[in-house]
Amino acid sequence: MSASVALRLPSIDGLLRHPACLPLAERYGREALLSSLRQLLDELRSSVVNGQLSAVEISPEVLAGRVGERLVQQQRSQVRRVFNLTGTVLHTNLGRALLPEEAIEAVQMAARYPLNLEFDLASGKRGDRDDLIEGLIRELTGAEAVTVVNNNAAAVLLTLNSLGARKEGIISRGELIEIGGAFRIPDIMARAGVRLHEVGTTNRTHARDYEAAISSRSGLIMRVHASNYSIEGFTARVQTAELAELAHRHGLPLLEDLGSGSLLDLTRWGLPAEPTVRQALLDGADIVTFSGDKLLGGPQAGLIVGSKALIAKIKKNPLKRALRVDKLTLAALEAVLGLYRDPDRLAERLPSLRLLTRAQADIFAQASRLQPAMADVLGEVWRVGAVQSLGMIGSGSQPVARLPSAALCLRPQVSRRMRGRHLLNLEAALRALPIPVLGRIDDDALWLDLRQLDDEPAWLAQLPLLQVAQ
Ligand SMILES: *Cc1c(COP(=O)(O)O)cnc(C)c1O
Repeated sequence: MSASVALRLPSIDGLLRHPACLPLAERYGREALLSSLRQLLDELRSSVVNGQLSAVEISPEVLAGRVGERLVQQQRSQVRRVFNLTGTVLHTNLGRALLPEEAIEAVQMAARYPLNLEFDLASGKRGDRDDLIEGLIRELTGAEAVTVVNNNAAAVLLTLNSLGARKEGIISRGELIEIGGAFRIPDIMARAGVRLHEVGTTNRTHARDYEAAISSRSGLIMRVHASNYSIEGFTARVQTAELAELAHRHGLPLLEDLGSGSLLDLTRWGLPAEPTVRQALLDGADIVTFSGDKLLGGPQAGLIVGSKALIAKIKKNPLKRALRVDKLTLAALEAVLGLYRDPDRLAERLPSLRLLTRAQADIFAQASRLQPAMADVLGEVWRVGAVQSLGMIGSGSQPVARLPSAALCLRPQVSRRMRGRHLLNLEAALRALPIPVLGRIDDDALWLDLRQLDDEPAWLAQLPLLQVAQ
């Protein structure tokens, strides 16, 4: 065919009426088909003008095939399930805690039916959504009152703004942290209208540093759990009890942002110690804030607990309305908190705790079991080992603590120069599976940490679909 013969794309109208497109209109709807056809033709136009496509490539049949593929893609949900084999259990980018069945049922109920979200069934009057979990929170933490917002970042913002606006917030230099995703304590303070008054040094802050900073301009003292980093060596930090005593002597409230905020002492399950919400309150913190979806193991939420008077003040802040939680979250949160009433069975029932406490021997046995299937699929080029590995809790909890785990370790048997590309290709192929598999590259190997591989059949079933580019 001569290049001088100008090809033209078929018209949209012609395509819509073409027999090859009719089943697509039937299946996906005329509007969706029209919109996908327009996108496709727009993309092809310049290639046609430049003579890069043949007459067959722009025939109605071929175009119908392509638009059909596009419609399948577009119909597929953008929210996708994945296998988190990164070794990080509470992975912020992968949705953190998995909810227990009790919470999933509660979410379904709340999604399907009207409910007493802000309605007091006893009196028949308007209610308050925080009341739905207040009883449980009081029992589990010893707090007098609670209010719940969208996440812990919102909890910190709302608390600071409610209690310290136009005043100074005193905080140690060692606690001016960045959590990630642009959440930095100094910036949040500024946005909350609180003037930052930093005291002490990065590694050492003493009670006298706080005391010297207190003046008529002071509004509060804040303490932040240094979740995602650790300072070791020559360090000094004032205990919460001492700081609370000092704050109260000067009529100031002490806020403690616990971050993960565990409700129970995790050492009973062999996990690293995390400060508990109850202990922070016992030590004298007036307000404690923590996340719902970190160590608590529930839905994304920010809990603000503490004294009745301060919680009442926080609840009156108009920002509360902008940051409040929805009914699905509250339903899930109540169900998760309910499980904490029976700590003896918590590790069986709460997925995050069950995964965090899974024995290394059990994970190793799983790795050994799956090793042959993986080796078979990857072939000669890869050495597949069932090995011990180290994972982490994630979400800023215990940044230096490692969870003894086990993994499939996938090593390309190629020259050093080629290893990087092989690893990236394998990583991409695993991501392209129907349920994407996410591991981690380290030390010239791709590691699939199996601590969180619950659904072994689904994982095995899709393995034959793995196609690694060479
Ligand atoms: C994680 C964390 C936050 C932010 O909590 P989100 O629930 O992610 O908004 C705030 N402060 C500390 C100390 C944290 O660890």
